[in-house]
Amino acid sequence: MHSESDAATENHPEKQPLNFIHQIIEEDNRTGKFGSRVHTRFPPEPNGYLHIGHAKAILLNYGTAVKYNGKFNLRFDDTNPIKEEEEYVQSIIEDVKWLGADYEDRLFYGSDYFEQMYEYAVQLTRKGKAYVCDLSAEEIKATRGTLTEPGQESPYRKRSIAENLDLLERMKAGEFPDGSRTLRAKIDMASPNLNMRDPVMYRILHAPHHRTGNKWCIYPMYDWAHGLEDSIERITHSLCTLEFEDHRPLYDWFLIELDAYRPQQIEFARLNLTYTVMSKRRLLELVKKRYVNGWDDPRMPTISGMRRRGYTPEAIQNFAERIGVAKRDSTVDVALLEFSVREHLNKIAPRFMGVLNPLKIVIDNYPEDREELLEAINNPEDLSAGTRQVPFSRELYIEADDFMEDPPKNFFRLAPGREVRLRYAYFITCTNVIKDSDGNITEVHCSYDPATSGGDSPNGRKVKGTLHWVSARHARTAEVRLYDRLFNVENPGGEHFLEQLNPTSLTIVDKCYLEPALAEQAVPGFRFQFERLGYFCIDPDTTPTKLVLNRTVTLRDTWAKIAQKQQK
Ligand code: ATP
Ligand code: MG
Repeated sequence: MHSESDAATENHPEKQPLNFIHQIIEEDNRTGKFGSRVHTRFPPEPNGYLHIGHAKAILLNYGTAVKYNGKFNLRFDDTNPIKEEEEYVQSIIEDVKWLGADYEDRLFYGSDYFEQMYEYAVQLTRKGKAYVCDLSAEEIKATRGTLTEPGQESPYRKRSIAENLDLLERMKAGEFPDGSRTLRAKIDMASPNLNMRDPVMYRILHAPHHRTGNKWCIYPMYDWAHGLEDSIERITHSLCTLEFEDHRPLYDWFLIELDAYRPQQIEFARLNLTYTVMSKRRLLELVKKRYVNGWDDPRMPTISGMRRRGYTPEAIQNFAERIGVAKRDSTVDVALLEFSVREHLNKIAPRFMGVLNPLKIVIDNYPEDREELLEAINNPEDLSAGTRQVPFSRELYIEADDFMEDPPKNFFRLAPGREVRLRYAYFITCTNVIKDSDGNITEVHCSYDPATSGGDSPNGRKVKGTLHWVSARHARTAEVRLYDRLFNVENPGGEHFLEQLNPTSLTIVDKCYLEPALAEQAVPGFRFQFERLGYFCIDPDTTPTKLVLNRTVTLRDTWAKIAQKQQK
């Protein structure tokens, strides 16, 4: 496994050299190929939610337009009425906007061009370059040949132009049943490129379309539609993933034969990420079979899942720049994405204290009726974020992991007789441990040193551990959802990919304790750091009576370690 470019470990994405696509564009601008215009598009099929791979494509297309003062279109490639739904259209629009890819007023639908596409089909037929074929889908497949054998010409290939025009019109008028006829391009059944062996342009499908309703009963195939859509929108550089490389001759053939405006198709490597799947078919299966709680489940590699989990558009943009664009497929370590998220949240996320797995502390020499407000820094990385007040009192919660009754030498947190710092508060020393009849620790008693107010040592006395805490009396509660990788294996896939799911990808902590200042700001989408625990955000499942938090990412940075190792 490796990153897509050496620049992946580089911390200054802006210093990357020109990628191969931008090199092509600069050459085109130099020669005036497109009159120095740059116009890109993102052409999703609305048959699922967008994922991080799409984010890469969106940001590449949008970023390229911005870089060259060009334009960027969002266009739904909605030529297949069967799998497409309005819900997907809306989610895609939301995701593209959230990522910051501004298409201004250029939101288009391939289906808006159906009439024009049909006219182009008539034009090709009239030219003798397309014919109506009565073979079934199976027969077409069976006569297509193989990589080593040429295909067989259809018996309908020699139909007269007049007959073809008549049949095409009647196909469109709805005279024939589904699957009985197709319109095919007349190219070359012996072409070494299978895509050029008289590909189907239209099929008959009596199915309503999410935008055109029952107007059409013939629908264009992807290869026929896509180049026309690009051409009609006067796209200059049509960026797509590598699997379309073999389709490029067909893309060009249609536009050359039609004498239409011709964009340049350029292929780049798709993004693959470790520990997840990216195919829409598989993601749909996870949703349908309820292995996850919907497309926007925070464990999903979807943009909506990442948004719900607390990722920021900036983090995804930085990630996309780091991985760059390449011509060879590869898999990127998901730790690099998490690194980008952590890096951005470190700058912007205010800090709070919260306790996930509470242990009660009682400070015996702190008066029962006393409480005070202590000042805490909101973000040490951004002092302009100011400070807040954190209530302190005699009874507190600390993390159960931060206490050990019988600690090993290298444990620097709380233990009998040991002194630690409570963040922003005081030094405390453990004096006594209370247990229930089963021997479980129920309370830890401590004494505090009033001279260490603010967590500062008055006489240079050092403590090794600093713990986060929440005042029990003031604590608010929340449900916390902790996420782990969705799959247990680095490159999930194959027939049995469901068996590779991580059964503990979601852990729910019913009741965590948090400081009141956080509860006051807790609107869905709010992102913050729990000191020492990681970055979190408020989940939309939050109600006026119940706070729900998602852990976005832990503080542990595995990527930095990997990068360090690679540099050594
Ligand atoms: P399918 O075609 O199987 O429905 P798809 O993911 O290719 O799935 P599209 O809606 O066709 O879905 O994708 C829209 C655009 O996003 C295409 O231009 C495609 O090349 C690009 N794209 C899709 N997946 C990735 C990926 N993993 N990395 C980069 N770009 C991608
Ligand atoms: Mg596709």
